Formats: sequence, structure tokens, C-alpha cells
Amino acid sequence: MQKRNGFYILAAFAIILMLLAHFSGRMAATAPAFTFASEAREVYLTFDDGPSTVVTGEILDTLKEENVKATFFLVGERIDGREEVVRRMAKEGHTIGVHSMTHRYDMIYSSPEALAEDVGKCAARIEKVTGVTPRVYRFPGGGRHAREEQLLKEMGYRIVWWNAVNGDSEIAHADAETLAKTALSTSAGKGQVVLLMHDRADCTETAKALPAIIAAFREEGCVFRAF
Ligand SMILES: [Zn+2]
Repeated sequence: MQKRNGFYILAAFAIILMLLAHFSGRMAATAPAFTFASEAREVYLTFDDGPSTVVTGEILDTLKEENVKATFFLVGERIDGREEVVRRMAKEGHTIGVHSMTHRYDMIYSSPEALAEDVGKCAARIEKVTGVTPRVYRFPGGGRHAREEQLLKEMGYRIVWWNAVNGDSEIAHADAETLAKTALSTSAGKGQVVLLMHDRADCTETAKALPAIIAAFREEGCVFRAF
């Protein structure tokens, strides 16, 4: 009797093993390859209105330390005298986009020709300094009309909007802690986050908030991307 029981236990064990092998084989064949990257929320850190000397430099230091790539939308005339910081952006693998030559809405949006000229001048400035032709564009002040969007597309640009902000231009005198909290609260529930921030000279709190912003998104399992 004991021997028989032993046989049944062995037989049952063998059947279980066979079933496991069968189903795991099927799962391996049919289940899509699981990667963390495809499951994770994507965060695009974007900085407008630069370059500035101190703030942009501090932001680049943090990005380098954290091994994160970001996207900078530059104001062409602010590049003068800050060529080094712009070259550093390119050298360290960040994406550089066009945000206008002057950031003066009255000039940029006065006509389609004026807009095209402004974009062309800013792009040429970036190209001259970095050797890289910019391919992404962000409208100063968010743009005005659909025809302007069409014009930029015809010029070959990918237009980048945003769906979250850190509040550095929306909340007056916000400290770093408020900026980090605002970045997270405006990003909540979004599978792909395009976070608008600024590296203007007056945005020192944005540079201070950046390590906490990166840490908080990392804690949520997000991956960082540049355009
Ligand atoms: Zn701007």
C-alpha cells in the first residue's frame, strides 16, 4: 500500500511538471516581451526661455548628475555671450529646440512671414553655435492660430506643447518646494508627461527644485525622455 501511494504521488508530480512545462512554454511563445520601459510613464523635462548663465548651468549640472536628458527651447538672442552653455547642452546629449529669436509676441505674431523669419533666425543661431539643426519648436506664449501651426509643420518642425507645469511662470514667487509639488500635481494621472519649466535668469528656484522633481518621478517608476 505504501509503495502504491508513493507511485501515485510520483505520477501526480510528473503530470504537474509536464503541465507546467507545457503552459510555461505556451506563455513564453505568446506573451509579449515585458519591459519596464514600455510600461513606465514617460516624462519629458522641458525648459523654455534660456539660455541663462547661472540657472541653465545649474540645471545642466543636475541633469548630468542624475543622468537625465532634457529638451531646451532657446531664445536666439539670449545665446549671445552664452555660447559655451549652449554647446554644453548639445555635448551632453540634450535636445535643443527653437522658441523664437526675441520672445516678443508683437513681432513674432505680426504676420506669417515675420514668424517664419523669426524661427529661421533662431534656428540659424543654434546651428552656428552647436552644429546641430534644430527640429523641434515651441510657440512663445503657446501660439495663436492654427495657420501658425501649419506653417511650422511645413518648415519641418515638430511642435511640442506641454501638459504639466512646475508653476515657475504661473505662481508668483514660488519656492522650490512649491515648484516640485506643482510639477507632480499637474502631472498626476498622465501616462506621458511633458513638463514645462523655465531656465531664465530669474528662475533660480526651478534649478533648486529640479533634484526633488527628478527624485519624485523616479520614485513613481517614470522614465525620462528628450524629444
Ligand atoms: Zn517662453
